[in-house]
Amino acid sequence: MKKKVIVVGSGFSGLSCACFLSKAGFEVVILEKNSSIGGRARKFQADGFTYDMGPSWYWMPDVFERFFNFFGHKTSDFYQLDRLNPSYKVVWSAAEAWDIPANLNEFYALFESIEVGSSVELKQFLAEAEYKYEVGIGKFVHLPGKSLFEYVDSTVLKALFKMHLLTDMTSYIRKYFTDSRIVRLLEFPVLFLGERPSHTPALYSLMNYADIALGTWYPQGGMYKIVEAMEKIAIDLGVKIYVNQEVKKIEICNNLVNYVLTEKEKYSCDYVVGAADYHHIDTKIMPKEYQQYSEKYWDSRKMAPSSLLYYLGLNKKVKGLLHHNLFFDADFKLHSDEIYKTPAWTENPLFYVSIPSITDNSVAPEGMENMFILIPTAPGLMENDSIQELYFNKTLERIEKFTGEKIKQNIIFRKDFAARNFISDYHAHKGNAYGLANTLLQTGPLKPSMRHKKLKNFIFAGQLTVPGPGVPPSFISGELAAKEIIEMEK
Ligand SMILES: Cc1cc2nc3c(=O)[nH]c(=O)nc-3n(C[C@H](O)[C@H](O)[C@H](O)COP(=O)(O)OP(=O)(O)OC[C@H]3O[C@@H](n4cnc5c(N)ncnc54)[C@H](O)[C@@H]3O)c2cc1C
Repeated sequence: MKKKVIVVGSGFSGLSCACFLSKAGFEVVILEKNSSIGGRARKFQADGFTYDMGPSWYWMPDVFERFFNFFGHKTSDFYQLDRLNPSYKVVWSAAEAWDIPANLNEFYALFESIEVGSSVELKQFLAEAEYKYEVGIGKFVHLPGKSLFEYVDSTVLKALFKMHLLTDMTSYIRKYFTDSRIVRLLEFPVLFLGERPSHTPALYSLMNYADIALGTWYPQGGMYKIVEAMEKIAIDLGVKIYVNQEVKKIEICNNLVNYVLTEKEKYSCDYVVGAADYHHIDTKIMPKEYQQYSEKYWDSRKMAPSSLLYYLGLNKKVKGLLHHNLFFDADFKLHSDEIYKTPAWTENPLFYVSIPSITDNSVAPEGMENMFILIPTAPGLMENDSIQELYFNKTLERIEKFTGEKIKQNIIFRKDFAARNFISDYHAHKGNAYGLANTLLQTGPLKPSMRHKKLKNFIFAGQLTVPGPGVPPSFISGELAAKEIIEMEK
């Protein structure tokens, strides 16, 4: 008889885990609290617009391809993937912006035009970043992080010296470049990891390789196409997916979970994968005596930022912006400090504007624009309606100033999403948008452990455990959790 696994949560980590386990011969059931699957990558439709609610940057296409290949597919079986060119726009002021070219030679030329000699430096910088990407994504992220001994393997040990674990990103970048805009451009990908570049190991220049060399891609139809592809693979493999099923409780006998309970049902199981937010499972679903970490521990963790999000529908096309736009026309250090160091509502936030309708006709009615604004905010800082309105106006004023056109009066649809929604929709600790920050002290074995220390048949997955936040790491987290269970069955 097949062993039965209950996966709690249908984000990328839960879906990935379910696919791997089902292929390995397990009976798998996914229980999802919300009315649709995908977790932070859900979508919604309104007034003819289709919005991806979370991730919008498709980086590291090799990780997606590897996943689909494992199940006998190619990415192109599910969606058309286009490389964006320019990759994105960086706005430095109302008068200055850079379009970041996808072509590497043009990228070198851009650097050289800003700082003489910087293209030569960039070659060396990228060569080191490529090495880190190959070892980091090829090897490190596939380690389950159970102990430091996993890293005591000659190739990994040798690699550690070249991974710049003990240098921070800001110092590392400044060794090569002096122009403050170049430094900020190279620091930007690290913001995905949930900490300041000055507090993130230079290992993560691998993200610069992902950005500059591997490129920014877009799945036609939107990021939710990835969720639909995984759902199809899962269902074809026999996975059962139930939505509107919030897991409330587990029943334990002899340090083994026997049952998983929602308000409506009681599910028997041989294994459980906790692919919802780790903190929520640990503090709200686990019985007290099985809680892995104290509230003090959780309070001391560096969470990735929360966000103020605005999903907008415009009844016209916008000029002067690209699919991805970074508004860095404000004090970078001040806003970073107010996110990560001394939580506060910043006067002038950095923000990000995505307009997928520039690339994809299917996400907005003809002649209209689908616009999404994201302002990163400190985890734990709770907004209210007036703060949401204030920041909505601040960002729109800056967008209008940069583009030189009216936008506010053309908004025909608006929906906001903020920390309180991250908490109510995903049970996100401190309203975090994307998990636990990837600092040195929260890397590998120093992250909340995948294996439950007491419960022999409970494994965690997702962006709060290894390898960390982001879509590709969440795919890998699900795979690692599946491997742990497959290993236990041997
Ligand atoms: C606004 C935003 C922008 C982002 N941008 C990018 C980007 O551009 N590129 C990128 O790579 N990454 C991005 N990320 C990060 C990326 O989306 C996440 O790291 C990833 O989707 C997390 O997947 P997960 O499976 O760990 O968690 P989730 O997607 O949160 O899935 C967990 C699931 O568990 C469910 N759940 C919670 N409690 C229960 C319960 N008790 N019972 C049942 N189900 C439960 C939740 O409803 C949820 O569906 C972004 C995230 C956000 C929020």
